[in-house]
Amino acid sequence: MSELRGVGIGLGVTQGPVARMAEPLPAPEDVPSTRTQAEETARVGEAVGAVARELEARGEQAGGAARDVLEAQAMMAEDPTLESEVGTRIAAGKTGEFAVYEAFASFRDMLVAMGGYLGERAADLDDVAQRVIARLRGLPAPGVPDPGHPFVLVAKDLAPADTALLDLDKVLGLITTEGGPTSHTAILAREKSIVAVVGVAAATGLVDGETVIVDAAAGTVTTDPTEEELTRAQHRADARKSAASAPLTPGALADGTKVPLLANLGKPEGAEEAVALGAEGVGLFRTEFLFLSSSQAPTVEQQREAYTKLLSAFPGKKVVVRALDAGADKPLAFLNDAHEENPALGLRGLRALRASEDILREQLTALAEADAATEADLWVMAPMVSTVEETEYFTTIAREYGIKTVGVMVEVPSSAILAERVLSIADFASIGTNDLTQYTLAADRLLGSVASFQDPWHPAVLRLIGMVGEAGRVNGKQVGICGEAAADPLLAVVLVGLGATSLSMAPTALADVRATLLEHTLDDAKRIAAAAVGADDAGSARDAARAAAAK
Ligand code: PEP
Ligand code: MG
Repeated sequence: MSELRGVGIGLGVTQGPVARMAEPLPAPEDVPSTRTQAEETARVGEAVGAVARELEARGEQAGGAARDVLEAQAMMAEDPTLESEVGTRIAAGKTGEFAVYEAFASFRDMLVAMGGYLGERAADLDDVAQRVIARLRGLPAPGVPDPGHPFVLVAKDLAPADTALLDLDKVLGLITTEGGPTSHTAILAREKSIVAVVGVAAATGLVDGETVIVDAAAGTVTTDPTEEELTRAQHRADARKSAASAPLTPGALADGTKVPLLANLGKPEGAEEAVALGAEGVGLFRTEFLFLSSSQAPTVEQQREAYTKLLSAFPGKKVVVRALDAGADKPLAFLNDAHEENPALGLRGLRALRASEDILREQLTALAEADAATEADLWVMAPMVSTVEETEYFTTIAREYGIKTVGVMVEVPSSAILAERVLSIADFASIGTNDLTQYTLAADRLLGSVASFQDPWHPAVLRLIGMVGEAGRVNGKQVGICGEAAADPLLAVVLVGLGATSLSMAPTALADVRATLLEHTLDDAKRIAAAAVGADDAGSARDAARAAAAK
């Protein structure tokens, strides 16, 4: 057997025979068109329109986040700038196929150069181009294979149109050779609870029919597995299934210590599913997700409507809303206008809000109004706080608007190191382990080449979390976790052992974490945490925690 590495999405494990996605269509040749300009323009117009309508229809059928993604893709297809780029090439005598190919490719390169969230949309644009070219050639759109039995799908990077309509009875798991943890493939795989490992460069060598184990929790694909490995993977898959159907009790350790389990949400529409999966409230509402495509700052009314909708879904429950976290992988046109060489180290999070304080004030106004109109227990926090002075700034301004519980995110090592001072001012802290890991290990969280550093099990990260936990205890303040780390069941136990008082995660991860917490007491959690903290690197911390948890 051999193990291929990538980035796991979620915690599932599955096994089955590989089926590869068909290779993309060959690039059209640059030969002079034999049609008139009007004929080529009409052909392309028909093909683009048909592709856009088909994407919309698929979105309608799939619903949920997939609909938004597919509608955005349909809009890309009919983008007027792209249309004029195609037109220029047709006017120069190119075929419709070549004009589409070249115009879309130049846009794709622009997106890739922008990097971050926009860069990861490149695959969406490629897919639109392939669909239009296939239509022009009278070929079926490239898509998911159908080998006639359940399979593990291997693709370069799935297009949203394919992910949205995956037949979950047939697709046992998903492996992509490209694409990072924030690609649409990853986002949709997470939403649909598809066992997926993305960015597995070595998966290009997998062949149709060979059996693999896809382990999202470990971020690995095992080729040529032994019988014993297959049986072990099956046991884990069965255990997950029974955890998913366990009763939706509030989060607690084996000794009854309460650990509220909360949801990370990016849209009010996600609330219903979160409640259905037993979320006891919201630990992180990412407000910037509402406005990623807006060129202008949202109005107070727009925001009040969205926040009221969210808060109404959680009467009597805690809902932690984060002020706009703009910058780096989530640029907002109205907050980040200057070019920066290192946007992750730039004017992002609270720094960007402070530079446009009117936008912060409008957001706080909308939040206070939504709070007054609803029954939820609203907590508000600032993103990317790196100093005690910033903590003072944010808590003062938020309290001016009558926000009762005001906290800060601990995502920068400086805030963790000074947590005792920070928590003497803020009402609570919420640790964003994604950024805290990125900044502690100095590894861009979106960059595949340094993905192995982006591991929250690293003892340096765990020690910082321990400092915040201790500061919370000393100050009598709550310390939540809202980064992806909280969704890893064993790491969740470690985090509680380090002093976390609540855990917030993608709702689909709640069942696994709930089940694992119930297996350990607080003393166990502290002992398991101590074992992990004492290690030298992330891998040995994980191993040490596993060994301690088995005792
Ligand atoms: C984090 O950094 O861990 C976090 C929760 O915030 P985001 O992932 O939105 O940056
Ligand atoms: Mg963050």
